[in-house]
Amino acid sequence: MKTHISSLKEFNTFGIDVLANNFNKAKNEDEILHFLIENKCNPLILGGGSNILFKNNINKPILKIEIKGIQIIEENENSIYVSVGAGENWNDFVRWSLAKNYGGIENLSLIPGNVGSAPIQNIGAYGAELKDVFHSCRAISIDNKIIKTFIKDECNFTYRSSIFKEKLKNKYVISRVTFRLSKTNHVINSEYKPLKNLLNERGIITPTIQDISKLVIEIRTNKLPDPKKIGNCGSFFKNPIISNLKFKNLFKKFNTIPNYKISKNEVKIPAAWLIEECGFKGKIEGKTGTHKKHALVIVNNGGASGEEIYKFSQNIKKSVLKKFNILLEEEVNIFE
Ligand SMILES: Cc1cc2nc3c(=O)[nH]c(=O)nc-3n(C[C@H](O)[C@H](O)[C@H](O)COP(=O)(O)OP(=O)(O)OC[C@H]3O[C@@H](n4cnc5c(N)ncnc54)[C@H](O)[C@@H]3O)c2cc1C
Repeated sequence: MKTHISSLKEFNTFGIDVLANNFNKAKNEDEILHFLIENKCNPLILGGGSNILFKNNINKPILKIEIKGIQIIEENENSIYVSVGAGENWNDFVRWSLAKNYGGIENLSLIPGNVGSAPIQNIGAYGAELKDVFHSCRAISIDNKIIKTFIKDECNFTYRSSIFKEKLKNKYVISRVTFRLSKTNHVINSEYKPLKNLLNERGIITPTIQDISKLVIEIRTNKLPDPKKIGNCGSFFKNPIISNLKFKNLFKKFNTIPNYKISKNEVKIPAAWLIEECGFKGKIEGKTGTHKKHALVIVNNGGASGEEIYKFSQNIKKSVLKKFNILLEEEVNIFE
């Protein structure tokens, strides 16, 4: 349904004040189909706007997905399969699952955004990823309007990516996502260091999924700025993954570089560390900058334009490339 709005400020957590002249909302699949038939050019699909940077006014049609509903579609003794509308708020869904004592998404508590966007970048936090609980999703092809169900194996989930961010980028509108959650014998995922440390500190030896969620929320609230107060999109860049050989050479020069072995041949480096080493932690430049507690979070200190934030991000990229010969890749989706 076409809606008369002009500014997109309240539709993106960076709080960028750009204009839109064709803004629509869809509350069901029929409304998505209707929109796609009416608007032939490539649209911009919008969820909660928590992983988007608008550089300029948006001249293409925008479709905000507002499909609601949480339905249990199958269950057995150990698991439930639950189908969730793409427009449900992610954290509301996490809270729903915890209230019913369904396990699997507690480590992903408090991640902003909507359920339909969660598979796009395979959201992840505190040692868990969406792919661990993803069963399938329904999506409508923008080109031929055919509805397809993608099962997990078809989604090519990798670190902060999926087929929807790569080969099928801007090709499908996700309408529903089905998850498989545990009903009993929950697998408690408490290996992530800050979480483990806090559990030890609190003397919690056998945590419940509710304990995990509570502590994840506590860590996140202390570490990350609330977008309602300071505009941001969480991590601006992905943590780079480099070869063992490249890491070995880097380590000769920078022997305090943190690193996590992720496969036989590859190592993940925290982007925040690289950015901090380049002197960007807490740096303020005009109306933008990085957060004082987290170098990976670029912030809008009030009234920054998308272009200003983008330029600042590119300066960070250039510095990291120059010092470490590592090219950072944006996690945030940038729209011209
Ligand atoms: C404070 C903060 C903390 C964050 N922490 C994390 C974190 O810990 N882990 C993490 O992974 N992410 C994190 N993020 C990033 C963000 O919350 C996630 O990427 C989230 O999934 C984005 O959801 P959204 O609905 O806001 O998507 P949007 O920003 O609206 O859209 C993101 C992308 O998905 C596309 N899209 C949206 N909906 C659909 C749909 N239905 N069908 C097809 N394409 C669609 C858009 O076109 C765009 O390219 C954080 C963000 C903030 C602000």
